[in-house]
Amino acid sequence: MTYPAHHNLIGGQWLPPCSGKTILNLNPANHADVIGAFPSSHAEDVDLAVAAAHHAFASWRLVPAPRRAEILLRAGVLLQQRKEQFARDMTREMGKVLAETRGDVQEAIDEAFYVAGEGRRLFGVTTPSELPNKFAMSIRMPLGVVGLITPWNFPMAIPSWKLFPALLAGNTCVIKPAIDTPLSTYNLVQTLVDAGLPPGVVNIVCGAGPAAGEALIEHPLVRAISFTGSSAVGSLVGQRAAATFKAVSLEMGGKNAQIVMNDANLDLALDGALWGAFGTTGQRCTATSRILLQKGIAAEFTFRFVKRAAKLKVGDGLDESVEVGPQINAAQIETSTRYVGIALAEGAELLTGGHALTNGSYAHGTFFEPTVLRGVKPEMRIAREEVFGPVVALLEFDSFEEAIEIANSIDYGLSTSIYTKDVNRAFAAIRDLEAGITYINAPTIGAEVHLPFGGVKRTGNGHREGLGALEFFTTWKAVYVDYSDKLQRAQIDNAE
Ligand code: NAD
Repeated sequence: MTYPAHHNLIGGQWLPPCSGKTILNLNPANHADVIGAFPSSHAEDVDLAVAAAHHAFASWRLVPAPRRAEILLRAGVLLQQRKEQFARDMTREMGKVLAETRGDVQEAIDEAFYVAGEGRRLFGVTTPSELPNKFAMSIRMPLGVVGLITPWNFPMAIPSWKLFPALLAGNTCVIKPAIDTPLSTYNLVQTLVDAGLPPGVVNIVCGAGPAAGEALIEHPLVRAISFTGSSAVGSLVGQRAAATFKAVSLEMGGKNAQIVMNDANLDLALDGALWGAFGTTGQRCTATSRILLQKGIAAEFTFRFVKRAAKLKVGDGLDESVEVGPQINAAQIETSTRYVGIALAEGAELLTGGHALTNGSYAHGTFFEPTVLRGVKPEMRIAREEVFGPVVALLEFDSFEEAIEIANSIDYGLSTSIYTKDVNRAFAAIRDLEAGITYINAPTIGAEVHLPFGGVKRTGNGHREGLGALEFFTTWKAVYVDYSDKLQRAQIDNAE
């Protein structure tokens, strides 16, 4: 079997890992399809990459931001030209259906154009000094070398959310993609290089989290870490990075609720629930994993939802007729299976699905049936813990207040949605739902790049991607220019 062997990108050169070892990237729809061999990197590789990024920072920080933006703009145009190929590569490496991988590449295109526009708007603030003949301003400075650690479920969009604003701000980057989906990061970074990015400004170190990721987090020359992944790993990242006082942005898990009120447009709520729960095979941080049904519509909604979920076509995402692709790997199948078991043991009722698909064309991949559980109570684990698979829990409630209480009763706070025609309820929900994102009459998935993206509680540590990313990737400098030709003492001279 022949497949390409990829290296790390360090200082503009493609270098094999110091260990000489590689990790195979397999198509989750067909494990016989090997996408390539990617480096199994360790601390030595990270050291080289950080040194290259540190060296490149000396000149990259001096490139005017509007010029840096032009490279992003060119990258956006190149991504448009390469969209179909990159979408196909992505479906092969992570499984989601082509319509969605096209969307993933499109998100990187949107991000390129959005962030490029910020090149001429990296605004600071001027303010009057309290002293005469003194000028005061605040300007944004780059941080230096930043480390980016990304998950497998949005393998081009999420790297673009981090890389583009980091670069626009004048930082240099070392990115460590997830081992299940490095190719999409390679495609993205190669596009930046083709768009004119100088050597060393972006470096890729590919490898397992504990080996390559931890070395990046602990490296003294890395000034900030932007991490997206599970809350368990995020907590570790935050603690380790604190030892060297790094800025840390953590975007983590979710357990997102769609609330359906008695007055909802039921057809619309059903379309939204199906897309929110089973799009990307339920493997989105914003996936709908709890559907909260008001008792007046619960029976009809459940009947119609289950009927449609059971008919979804599961298969290889490269087949345009397929609606639900594979799960990313055997570990995720094990998680979905385990949580169905836990839910049943706790008293939930399985209405459809519940099992891995292993026969016929499914035998060579990692597929799981779209799964619906009813009779779920807010205290059950299936209502509180992230599954990250095509498994959705139905809960019922009497009043709006009860729905809000159930929605908020978990540790996560990423995305929420409510279907209602009552504008008063909609606004109360916007106010009361504890989440970084709230949709009205739309599913829990579907973020746009120019709004703030992130969550509260165990989902995030207060930073935002999209609108907000430049806040993370810059640091403020206060500047005072005294043109009085004499010593002026703040808080002392001119004070009453
Ligand atoms: P993960 O936490 O297992 O891995 C994320 C990244 O961290 C990978 O690159 C991995 O190699 C790396 N990593 C693992 N262990 C590490 C360690 N000890 N030190 C440093 N790095 C380490 O998550 P995943 O399975 O790739 O992705 C799924 C998770 O990501 C879900 O919980 C999902 O909700 C979350 N997610 C969140 C968002 C968001 O923006 N909030 C977006 C997408 C995915």
